[in-house]
Amino acid sequence: MVLKFPRLAGWASRRGSLWLLLLALVVALLGLLVWLAGRYESSMVQSRLEDHAALAVTDMRSGLNRNLQAIQALHARERSAEAWQVPAAQLLHEHREILRLEWRNETLDMLGFVETPFRKSVFEQLDRTSLQTDVSLACTSARRMSGPVYSTSYFLPQADGLGMEVSDMCLPLTDAGRVTGYAVATYSLQGLLSELVSKPLSQGIGLSLTEADGTRLALYGVPARASRSFVARQLLDLPGITFVVRMESRLGTPALFPNILTALVAALSLALMAVLFLLGRDMRRRLQVENDLGEALAFRKAMENSLLTGLRARDLHGRITYVNPAFCKMVGVDAQELLNQSMPSPYWPPELAGVYQRRQEMRLAGNHLPREGHESVFMRKDGTRFPVLIMEAPLINAVGKHTGWMSAILDVSEQRRTEEVSRASQDRLQASARLAMVGEMASLLSHELNQPLAAISSYATGSLNLLAHASAGDQPPDAPALSDDLRLAMGRIAEQAERAGKVIKSVHDFVRRSERVREVVTPRALLDAIMPLVILQARKLGVRISLEVDETCPPVLCDRTMVEQVLLNLARNGMQAMHSSDETGQPALALSGKVLTLRIRPAASNAHSQWIEFAVIDQGEGISSEVARQLFTPFFTTKQEGMGLGLSLCRTVIEQHGGFLGYESVQPQGTIFSFTLPVAVAKSAAGAAMHHTPGES
Ligand code: ADP
Repeated sequence: MVLKFPRLAGWASRRGSLWLLLLALVVALLGLLVWLAGRYESSMVQSRLEDHAALAVTDMRSGLNRNLQAIQALHARERSAEAWQVPAAQLLHEHREILRLEWRNETLDMLGFVETPFRKSVFEQLDRTSLQTDVSLACTSARRMSGPVYSTSYFLPQADGLGMEVSDMCLPLTDAGRVTGYAVATYSLQGLLSELVSKPLSQGIGLSLTEADGTRLALYGVPARASRSFVARQLLDLPGITFVVRMESRLGTPALFPNILTALVAALSLALMAVLFLLGRDMRRRLQVENDLGEALAFRKAMENSLLTGLRARDLHGRITYVNPAFCKMVGVDAQELLNQSMPSPYWPPELAGVYQRRQEMRLAGNHLPREGHESVFMRKDGTRFPVLIMEAPLINAVGKHTGWMSAILDVSEQRRTEEVSRASQDRLQASARLAMVGEMASLLSHELNQPLAAISSYATGSLNLLAHASAGDQPPDAPALSDDLRLAMGRIAEQAERAGKVIKSVHDFVRRSERVREVVTPRALLDAIMPLVILQARKLGVRISLEVDETCPPVLCDRTMVEQVLLNLARNGMQAMHSSDETGQPALALSGKVLTLRIRPAASNAHSQWIEFAVIDQGEGISSEVARQLFTPFFTTKQEGMGLGLSLCRTVIEQHGGFLGYESVQPQGTIFSFTLPVAVAKSAAGAAMHHTPGES
């Protein structure tokens, strides 16, 4: 079954887009976080690098200042050029960055020089005099400024094919304010970086000196190769020249997540994504379940709405918690008016409300009612009453707790009406069957009454003759013989008249007794009531009647008239069967052999049986299989004057009493028809069986 839920589908698509939006937002947020963390990390590295660079510049500047002081100290004392060489060489030994130290006079002529002991002469390739311009320029400005001045850097090719950038520092030597000479120190720029920067460079950091235009002059330390690098620039401005100190770091950049913070953010993001994914999956499953549930609910709703049976649920306090449309339609009250309604319910007839209320209280007190259902009477909104059949079951919730009652209610008014109609038609049928029988009785009566009437008539004629003779004087009217004869004749007349009266009365009784009341009656009494009629017919058909009655049988509870008719019917059928077997030329039984036995005994062998068996045994033609197939079908008959209603009526009557009517063949010839009736129990029980009290609310 496929049910469409446009609203559900709409929700699902809206929820889907919300999820997408959420996912996009989370991804964007996480991206931003990772980017910010990366940036933060970069800025940290950058600022650290800036600090290092600034520190390096400070180191170099103070190193240079210290050197300056050492050179000044060298010239503080008056000494000869030869004597100067020893401390100068000592100074160079201590300061690797200084390649050469010169002492010049005020015209810049060389008085003496020492070279660093750590390498070959740097001026080997290039004559020192060819570089005079740089030195003289520096010294001129030094003299002007009365302080040290550094020359622009220049390249010194070396013997090994390489070279180095150097810069000369010219310090004017003064004596009482007069320049007496110059001290010139040649610095290796590379040496400045390697010797003066106090903090050793960590791996992956390169320190270089460049000119303002970016031309690199010296490099110390080699940065590792990497895709990204950080650069910090600091100015090292010395008198006469300005260098740019460039610190380059490639540390921390190669990893995707440069530090713990970024890694943490990334891990959290991944966890968040995973949770989102799981949530999404859970949501999808929920949606699926929701869909299934919706379908099941719609299916249940459709089923409830199409039901013809009324459904009603009540809680433990008797309040209505649910009614289906069929129930509302049945009682003609809206669901809103019924829900949460306590007792008395709007559909209880006021005259029965008290009984229903008591029943309800019994139920609430925990007395469970029968499950097979009970009949009751409800009232529609317009006040009309109608019978209902209620089936009640306890409502048990998912955790096994009893929460109330569920009732299925059937409107049985139509059923009752049909039953009424069928009962009426059955009554009519029985009446017509009765009439048919009465017709038959009438012919019997006329035959039977002929005898007593003829006897009466002959006795009357005889009496008249006697009286005529007496009046003629043959005999005195008061002669004893005459009066005896007359008395005898009159007695016979009275006897015959009484017999005729009895015959008429028994037929009259049979026809008159029509009311259908169950009463307690002995089996014998039932038999006695029909015997006159049975005997009448037996005499006509030449049949002998034999009775086998167990006098200890207890009384039965039955509709007396109907059961008498059943007995009469069966007896008549049996006698007719024996009679017809005579007429059809079959070996006729001797008159004495045609016996119809009427037997009454307890149904089971034990004496305490609750059923009494009545049997009518004939020695007739028996029942062929052809006849047997339709035996109980109404209007089936093999007799010319028959109506075919007898047996079907008999069976209905017996079944209405809860008994059973059947037949079997008897050897060597004949059939036995038997039926059972219930033994009458205590009077009160019998009453209860007959009266039905309305069940419940
Ligand atoms: P009816 O007596 O008016 O024919 P019943 O319903 O009493 O209607 O009987 C139906 C038929 O069953 C009879 O016509 C007869 O053929 C057969 N039948 C009934 N009782 C006996 C019996 N004791 N022996 C043989 N046939 C019988």
